[in-house]
Amino acid sequence: MEIDELQRATETEQLMPTRRHVMIVAALTAAAMASPARAQTKMNVVATISILGDFAKNVGGDRVAVTALVGPGGDAHVYSPTPTDVRTLSDAKLVIVNGLGLEGWMARLVKAAASKAPTVVATKGVKPRKMEDEHKPGRMVTDPHAWQSIANAKIYVADIRDGLIKADPAGKSTYEANAKAYIAKLDDLEKEVKAAIDTIPAGRRRIITTHDAFGYFGEAYGMEFISPEGVSTESEASAKDVAKIIKQIKEQKIPAVFLENVSDPRLMEQIAKESGAKIGGTLFSDALSDDKGPAPTYVDMMHNNIRQFTAALAN
Ligand SMILES: [Zn+2]
Repeated sequence: MEIDELQRATETEQLMPTRRHVMIVAALTAAAMASPARAQTKMNVVATISILGDFAKNVGGDRVAVTALVGPGGDAHVYSPTPTDVRTLSDAKLVIVNGLGLEGWMARLVKAAASKAPTVVATKGVKPRKMEDEHKPGRMVTDPHAWQSIANAKIYVADIRDGLIKADPAGKSTYEANAKAYIAKLDDLEKEVKAAIDTIPAGRRRIITTHDAFGYFGEAYGMEFISPEGVSTESEASAKDVAKIIKQIKEQKIPAVFLENVSDPRLMEQIAKESGAKIGGTLFSDALSDDKGPAPTYVDMMHNNIRQFTAALAN
């Protein structure tokens, strides 16, 4: 659906409250009356992806209500905003985006929602990773997956903390304390990741993933990731890309290919079958899982991924 259409849809709805709206308002009023007095109003924070939403929850704590637009397992590269997203965004007091070209759909959504909320670009201060576009030699593309390095995640958290303080100065001491405690957790996580990679023999630290989401992880922790798709899931791998990868797996004896929560598993299953590499499990690259899944938070996501790496590659 086009954003213009989305905008029209919401405007019409706003002009003509439906019976359902009236019922919702009545239900909300009843709920508010039933809940104990002194219910604190939380600041609405909207994050584009669930990973940013998790950072915002950790830093914002009880003072914020966080909504992530791209849900569990969703693909941020090719996301199509919904009318609900327009409404969510118009209620936001702070918007958090990744930047580095990840959310190409966001500018139109902000326009459609007529959002005046300040925006935090969480990668501000991160050193972007540039790489050559495989399909267009000589053209450089920016890799948006900076969160896959925990050192970068700490920069994200500091940026989000500063944005929250600007939007809600009364919460300054809370945001500072929460960010400090969470960054200490990330320090521990970084040690765990390094220790896990250390258990994998140097010659086996090389794997295949569907799209190029782990470049920052690879650079930070010394692993090589090879992908038939580029840094975006937008362009599908061609038959030639797939044939090249299969040849590379055989020549370089790459031990495993991995599935991704945001990508169709069939491509990797085909590559595994034709190359003889084993399937090393599912990695979480661009989105968290729901609460029942193995990666409902960023810390869980990193734990899941290093578990998958070591299970497939160690020894
Ligand atoms: Zn991605």
